[in-house]
Amino acid sequence: MAQPLSSLANKVTGKITEPCGLKQIIGHHEIKERLFQAQKHGRLPSTFLLVGPDGVGRKKLALALAQSLVCEVPVSQRELGGCGSCGPCLRIAKAQSEALLLIAPEKNTIKIEQTSRVLEFLSLQAISKARVIIIDSAHLMNPTAANTLLKILEEPPADCYFFLIAPGPQHVLPTLRSRAQVVRFSGLSLEEMKTKSTAAEWALRACQGSFSRLAGFQDPDELETRDFAGRFLEMWLSDRRAFMTPEWKNMIKDRVGALSLTRYVGLLLRDAIISKVVLASSAKEIQKNSQIINADKIDLILKLTSLELSLLQKMSQNIFRLEGALHANRDTQLSFEEFWLS
Ligand SMILES: [Zn+2]
Repeated sequence: MAQPLSSLANKVTGKITEPCGLKQIIGHHEIKERLFQAQKHGRLPSTFLLVGPDGVGRKKLALALAQSLVCEVPVSQRELGGCGSCGPCLRIAKAQSEALLLIAPEKNTIKIEQTSRVLEFLSLQAISKARVIIIDSAHLMNPTAANTLLKILEEPPADCYFFLIAPGPQHVLPTLRSRAQVVRFSGLSLEEMKTKSTAAEWALRACQGSFSRLAGFQDPDELETRDFAGRFLEMWLSDRRAFMTPEWKNMIKDRVGALSLTRYVGLLLRDAIISKVVLASSAKEIQKNSQIINADKIDLILKLTSLELSLLQKMSQNIFRLEGALHANRDTQLSFEEFWLS
């Protein structure tokens, strides 16, 4: 008799908050079509490594394929993905499926106890057409966890599909990588982002097609830091020693805030350089160009374009250096002083 798989699945499956059908996933048309056709013709490999930035839909795609694999409607009668309304499809969408095991890091690591759950899951009798194991942030598996998984992937049971999600192929062990078909995801286009989000234009332009990054930009602290970056550059244009003010010093007290401030100053400088080099100088033309991120700060961008191009370029290069110094845990105060003085 089959043991109740759903209890195990519930214990380890994360929250799935949105419809997860292939059709509902925005963008990635070529990937969706290619994988669905492979499934239709019985050529779907058993292990995938889905790589790309956070927040572009890698996990959603894995879930959508899981639906497609367990759907009760024959694959030849479907257009793309699962039907979305049969029992198995709905249970995947509700994260209550006996066919799905989702593993995610706990405290930033995936330990052997978690990959051992894959063995436990596979030892139970299959009651679905296929079984899907999704390992989110697979690059956070510790070596013993990765080895346990590797042993399973060496001889995957029939009708079992593994989706490993990571930022890039180089982030997982070569032994794991060599067993997987690598699928590369890139950021969504501005138009694709706009179909799902009504966020401010600048945030949509700055997030490089990632919903996680977009969410970060909407954090009130981030918005305040961005405004401060703008105000500060204004001040600095008329007083080159503005970085000595208490307000500035307060702003760079903590490293995370300092890094975020660096990023916004960098983005404003980048906009000024693009406006100066590529575009004509009318405010309207600048705002219209989708390469310009801070279109809402056009007055400041125009003021910055009054600086010599060589100075803007030097500042922009130094911002990269400053970011590197902050990532390397150098003293924030000193690093910033060096930046403004140079
Ligand atoms: Zn279905």
